[in-house]
Amino acid sequence: MYSVTKRIEFCYGHRLLDYDGVCKHPHGHNGVAEIEVQTETLDHRNMVCDFSDIRRVIKGWIDNELDHKMLLRHDDPLARALEQLGEPVFLVDSNPTAERIARLIFDYSKAQGFSVVRVTVWETPTSFAEYRPTA
Ligand SMILES: [Zn+2]
Repeated sequence: MYSVTKRIEFCYGHRLLDYDGVCKHPHGHNGVAEIEVQTETLDHRNMVCDFSDIRRVIKGWIDNELDHKMLLRHDDPLARALEQLGEPVFLVDSNPTAERIARLIFDYSKAQGFSVVRVTVWETPTSFAEYRPTA
């Protein structure tokens, strides 16, 4: 197997509902997403895929949709308040944990045709969550 991994930096805010800890309050992270793409054979350029394609497609989406946005659960009352103030929010169907964000980026990457096998989201320099589907 060949594998390439691209790191993408982005900033996001969030808060967790139904959670008893400091993360129940709105706060932000300088996050890093790692997208790992794997193939058994290389293409005609001797590549798994072009790093610049990952940057253009996946980083482009992260920049537009997640970067400098508040990521909130769809029913979070804070979402309505921010929207009324004209502030950007990105709604997810469940608590916007690092695990959920990893899954979000994985699903988008897969839908765009990348042979993605793992997405890791570093929430801090010492804490990361990963999504990889079972084989
Ligand atoms: Zn957090």
